[in-house]
Amino acid sequence: MEDALGHPRLGYYMGRDPFGREGDFITAPEISQMFGELIGLWSVVQWRAMGEADPFNLIELGPGRGTLMADMLRAGGGVDGFLETLTLSLVEISPALKGVQEGTLLNATGAEARRAQALRWISDFSEAPEGPFVAVANEFLDALPIHQFQRTAEGWRERLVDVSETATAEFQFVLSDTPPEGNAVPMGVEDAQAGDIVEVRPVATALVRDMAQRLNRHPGCVLFIDYGHPMTACGDTLQAVKAHATHDPLTEPGSADLTAHVDFGVLAHAAADAGAQVLGPLTQGRFLSSLGIQARADALAQSSPAKAQGIADALARLTSDDGMGALFKVMALSSPGLPPPPGFE
Ligand code: SAH
Repeated sequence: MEDALGHPRLGYYMGRDPFGREGDFITAPEISQMFGELIGLWSVVQWRAMGEADPFNLIELGPGRGTLMADMLRAGGGVDGFLETLTLSLVEISPALKGVQEGTLLNATGAEARRAQALRWISDFSEAPEGPFVAVANEFLDALPIHQFQRTAEGWRERLVDVSETATAEFQFVLSDTPPEGNAVPMGVEDAQAGDIVEVRPVATALVRDMAQRLNRHPGCVLFIDYGHPMTACGDTLQAVKAHATHDPLTEPGSADLTAHVDFGVLAHAAADAGAQVLGPLTQGRFLSSLGIQARADALAQSSPAKAQGIADALARLTSDDGMGALFKVMALSSPGLPPPPGFE
């Protein structure tokens, strides 16, 4: 999974811009500016809760086209002093997307990014400058590699990818002959039946631990938005998507996006264990509604009546249960002692 997405030459993200109607999938910030604007103001509230810290690190993991950050900065730019304190760090592996982000954030309309003190790209969260911070990650965790374990009559076995022996496929799933190491299978799936699959994502757990340690060193807050489940559960959620349709994950690896649902339960546990406050997860619909997305939609529709229908459609897509409102979850981590962030009170 890691190679299929991030191999320097063949990885899915490394040479292309996969977003939008002509691409493979659409994300919340690409649906409407409202998403990034609300998160921008959410970050301002956190900055104020940290005594208007200066310098202040704004960190985004997996910024895609840079749309979320551009909308956040435009909204935050309306608040005195906020942009002037900012150091921006973008955690990104894709050279192609770094180029797109640079274009989005530094082009003629990117005055906000230029007012910020610095804009840098880093390859890992741990490289972000020390100090008070807000980090946001929309649809980032789902791209980090997973392991799958399947329950058999003999116990759990890791599901692995092998070269296929059939003429029709290049690769196939196989089961390991031997049991996994001691604590590889997570807690909470003791009732699994033969055939059930459980997924783990050690890279995400390690990231969350690292973030929690930073939250103990400096005042800070992290916002994760992703599809997934609030508690560990069985299920094969590995999915490949190409041109807005599902695709076989083992066919032409590197040509399709690969994702799996996020187990927020495991991440919440790891963060709390490492001393962070954990807030949520709650649904994206509830989060955006409590931040006032309806009022923002009304204001936008009033100022451009010709776009009212498009704005209403975007609002429904972001917040309704049959859109992204229920499947997508929002979880925050914050430093001990900070008040709960907006949306989590
Ligand atoms: N947040 C954006 C993009 C989501 S797609 C949006 O909502 O539109 C995932 C993003 O994470 C892409 O920018 C991809 O290149 C980046 N990415 C994937 N795996 C990564 C990794 N291991 N390290 C850093 N960035 C990664």
